[in-house]
Amino acid sequence: MGKTSKRSRKAPPKTKVSKIGWVIMPAETFAKASQGRSVCPVCSEIPKPLPSNGKDAWICQRCKHSFVARLPTDEDLAKLYEAYGYDDAAGRYSPPFLDAIIGDLVDSFEAHRKTLKLLDVGFGSGGLLRIAKTRGWDPHGVELSSAAVAYGREQELGTLYEGDFLTLPIEKAAFDVIVMSELVEHLVDPVPFLRRARELLRVGGLLYMTTPHGRGVSGLALGGEWSVLRPPEHLQLFSIASMRRSLEDVGFSKTEIYTQGLLPHELLQKVRAQFRSSRGAGKATKTDPETSAFRERAGKSVGLNESLSGRRTGRMLKSAANVILRLTSLGDSLRVRAVR
Ligand SMILES: [Zn+2]
Repeated sequence: MGKTSKRSRKAPPKTKVSKIGWVIMPAETFAKASQGRSVCPVCSEIPKPLPSNGKDAWICQRCKHSFVARLPTDEDLAKLYEAYGYDDAAGRYSPPFLDAIIGDLVDSFEAHRKTLKLLDVGFGSGGLLRIAKTRGWDPHGVELSSAAVAYGREQELGTLYEGDFLTLPIEKAAFDVIVMSELVEHLVDPVPFLRRARELLRVGGLLYMTTPHGRGVSGLALGGEWSVLRPPEHLQLFSIASMRRSLEDVGFSKTEIYTQGLLPHELLQKVRAQFRSSRGAGKATKTDPETSAFRERAGKSVGLNESLSGRRTGRMLKSAANVILRLTSLGDSLRVRAVR
């Protein structure tokens, strides 16, 4: 971090503030900047630009961690996550097939059951806490969204905290299990979250995480154009190496990291567009604006998951595919089990 060359001091980075208040740094000056996110947030290496349709995306040359340079301010984040869709029924809706998947996940925590305390960081609509409670766990949850906390209290999901996971007064060395499902990609600085999780786990306790995999099939093919890298919400894409390094740096020594799942729709869209343009059959359609692509992808994935989870052959196909993705490390989702 500390290397500030004379040249970069002479030419301070030009930054401007966008309409909604993010600090945006031009791509050329970003790499030269000596402050803020000028280095990989995991290993401090200087990154290189990741082609990304103007998203200011970067990839670390050492640990292959991808991240965006547009960092939302604390105020932006507070505004973004205050309701975050949990203030209406549609946003709280959880498809029934998810309950079975969450149930299997909670069952996989059995070996760690001792204090019975389980903490879900970013519990959202509260499905995991609800199911953990029916299996005899003592559920705890943290949320930035006041709407989610209000709804969780209505549902009597357990001990709920509203606010910043890093500073909330939560009992240390107490938890059997801490879950961070699709959380770390949202964080401006993810490593302190992992450190905090380790501090709250008892010795032998488990940290379970899922997050999009920056080096799976979609991440490798689409790079920074992948709609999953989507500021101001999704700011980080972990590789297996950057995830392992982050966990080791905060003191986790027993870690299992693997990949599964494919999100093929956006990839197919790009292949089709390239095929059309290579055949000269008119101009290739530009990649959709990221939000609509993300929504479409998410919608189709839920549909696909729902139909695959519902039929026996579908379930078999899905688990066969996951075995392959686990062996090749090319899945689009990273799964992490780290024991304190
Ligand atoms: Zn790195």
